[in-house]
Amino acid sequence: MQVTRNGFLKTVWGAVVAGGSLGRAAQTLAQVQQAAGAHPRQTRIADVTIWPFTMRQKETIRIALGTMGADNVLVRLRTIDGVTGWGESSPYSAVMAETQAIDLAAAKHLAEMVKGRDPFTIPKITLEMDNFSPGNPGIKAAFEMALWDIVGKIAGQPVCRLLGNFRDSFLTDRTVYLDTPEVMAEKAKRISDAGFKVVKVKLGEAPEYDIQRLGAVRAAVGPHINLRIDANQGWTAAMAIQALKGLEQFRVEFCEQPVPYWDWEGLRFVRERAPIPIMADESVHSPHDAIEAVRRNACDMINIKLMKTGGILNAMRVAQIAAAADMNCMLGCMSEIRVALTAAAHVVTASPNVLYADLDAFTEYDMDPVIGGMQLRDGALSLPETAGLGLDIDSSWLKSLHSA
Ligand code: MG
Repeated sequence: MQVTRNGFLKTVWGAVVAGGSLGRAAQTLAQVQQAAGAHPRQTRIADVTIWPFTMRQKETIRIALGTMGADNVLVRLRTIDGVTGWGESSPYSAVMAETQAIDLAAAKHLAEMVKGRDPFTIPKITLEMDNFSPGNPGIKAAFEMALWDIVGKIAGQPVCRLLGNFRDSFLTDRTVYLDTPEVMAEKAKRISDAGFKVVKVKLGEAPEYDIQRLGAVRAAVGPHINLRIDANQGWTAAMAIQALKGLEQFRVEFCEQPVPYWDWEGLRFVRERAPIPIMADESVHSPHDAIEAVRRNACDMINIKLMKTGGILNAMRVAQIAAAADMNCMLGCMSEIRVALTAAAHVVTASPNVLYADLDAFTEYDMDPVIGGMQLRDGALSLPETAGLGLDIDSSWLKSLHSA
C-alpha cells in the first residue's frame, strides 16, 4: 500500500481528533505506520556464500605495471527471510596488495563478522571490517556492496536512489592497452566504430614511443572522439613533462597517474608544469588519501575505484572530499564483471562531481554471467529501475563454480 504525505497527515490528524489526546495520537501513529507497511522491518544476515572464479579475456591486457588477469571472487549474503545481496572483488595485487587467494582467506573472517548482523548498519559493519584489516579493500567492497543490495531490495529502491539520484545515464570510455602504435590505433578505431565517444589509452613507457602511439590513435579515430590517457606510474616526473608536452597536440582530456603512487611531490611537480590535467589514481585509495591529495595540491582530479576504497560508502566520501575541494572525479575499475561494475555505476549516478567513467572491464570477456545490472548502449551506461543493485547471476553459470 502506498501512502502519500497528505493521506498520511490526514490519517494522523483523524487519529488525534478521534483520540482526543496527543499521547493517544502517538500510539495511533505507530499503528498507522505498521498498517501502512512503514514500520521498519527488522532482519539479519543468515548465511554467506563465496565463489572464486576466473574470466577469460579476449586479449592480453598489458599496462605499465604488467599484465592484468581476472581472478575474482563472488559473494552472496542472504537474510533470515531470504533476501539476497550480491558482491564482487576483483583483486589486482600490483595496486591492492590483494589476490584471489588472499580474498578467500579474508572472506572467511568477514563472513563471520556479518552473520547475524542487521544489513541497515553498513557504517558500523564497515568500521569493524576496517578494524579487522586496514587492507583487503576488494573483498571488503564485495561484502559492503552486497549489504547495499539487500538494503535496496528491502527498501524497494535502486541503491542510487538511496544514495541520492543525480543523473540517469553517463558515458563510459573503452580502453586500449599497451601494444604497438599500429595495433593500438586499430583497436581504438574498432572502439569508436562500436559507438564509444571516449577512448582511454594506456601509456607510461618511453615518452617518444608513447607520443607515436597516441598520434596513431588520434589519426585512426579522427578529431571528434575524446581521448584520455593513463601512464599507470610508468614515468618519472621529468619523463612525464616530456611526454605530456608532446601529447598535448592530440587533444587529451586528462592523464592518470603519471608517476609512482608514493611520489606526491612528483605528482604535484607534474601537475604544476604539464599542459594536460592530472588525475590521481594509484595514489588515492581511501578518503584519507583524498585529503592528502587535496592538502598537497597534487592533482586536478581523482579516479575512484570501489576496489581501492573498500566499497560504496568510502567511494562517496572520496567524491565528496573532492567536491569540497572543487575537484571532479572518475569512477574506474580493475577486472570486474558487471556485479562490482554495476555497484560503481550506482555511485556515478548519485555523484554530481563524478563526470567521467571507465567501467569497461566487462567488454574484455567472452561471456557475461550477470542478468540485469547496468546496461551499455552507444557508449553510455544506465541502470535499471530495479531495487538494490538491480542484478542477478545466471544460475547455470553459478552451478559451474565451486564455492569456497
Ligand atoms: Mg588508472
